[in-house]
Amino acid sequence: MTEAPHLTFDLDTPGVSRGHLVVPGGGDRGELSLPVFSLNKGEGPRLLVTGGNHGNELEGPLVARRLIEWLPDAQTCGRVIILPVLNPLAVEAWSRNTPLDGLNLNRVFPGRADGSVTERIADAVSRVLLPTADTVFDLHSFGPTWEFPPAVITHPIADADLMAKTLQMAEAFKLPVTLLWEHDDTTGMFDTWAHSQGKIFVCAELGCGTVSAEALAVYEAGVRNALIALGLVEGKVENVSFRQKRSSQTLETHVSDGLKSPAAGIFEPRCSVLDEVKHGDLIGVLHPMDSLSAESIDIRAREPSIVLAIRSGAHVDRNEGVAFVARPLKI
Ligand SMILES: [Zn+2]
Repeated sequence: MTEAPHLTFDLDTPGVSRGHLVVPGGGDRGELSLPVFSLNKGEGPRLLVTGGNHGNELEGPLVARRLIEWLPDAQTCGRVIILPVLNPLAVEAWSRNTPLDGLNLNRVFPGRADGSVTERIADAVSRVLLPTADTVFDLHSFGPTWEFPPAVITHPIADADLMAKTLQMAEAFKLPVTLLWEHDDTTGMFDTWAHSQGKIFVCAELGCGTVSAEALAVYEAGVRNALIALGLVEGKVENVSFRQKRSSQTLETHVSDGLKSPAAGIFEPRCSVLDEVKHGDLIGVLHPMDSLSAESIDIRAREPSIVLAIRSGAHVDRNEGVAFVARPLKI
């Protein structure tokens, strides 16, 4: 019989603990030890912070490391558990999915003890770490082929009370955008599993494939604001500026708000994220590259909206997403 997933230390130990989450081995590889930090200051909120869910989104692990540095001097109560890298196999390969089994960790929750390595990681997190927290911050980036503003995201939740609390938590980051995202592919997400367990779970996201000092500063300030709102640390909340805009806005986007490429080719953006567009405004141009006699195709806004995400730097197939628009959230 294989051993059960477990932590190598006792979470009830007061103060700082450092150890590992042990993910048992299986048919495809041996056991994994994921570094875990915990700071226990007794009564108070119980927070779990994770990064490296997708291996090509490196801001999360870096901000998690920064948190581990300053939290011991800042945290006044409660318990914070930080796991900077959920999927080391994907991070080492700078790959969204795990190279060994091809699976997307964020689509296999709650995982399987007898599954492949990605499913075993999800199983260990679901069984060992998630029950220890009331609130979870999963630190993502939007990925290397999109421009996306610094944002905190949640998906629609059937439980109205949990929905309201989750949106309030997301807004507490004070990032430029808080987004309620109706997504057509939420089965197996860490988010949806945590919500089903009654946890407040939010995802932080920001754009593009390279890690910049500016993006890290924005990200860290957002997480610090959220920790202040939770009452875990003391301090003054700061509004995070992005492209000269200091105010935060709460937006919603639906499945139908995705704009698709009409043909294969290279997408040329003609607007930037957070631009306001009217019906008919040019979002971008698709340039087919297989024939120079094929005309370039304009992609235009269908209604007044705010540009939320825009594709950049990748050849796209016909019907692949090239932009998402959004509008102010109406509750
Ligand atoms: Zn991600």
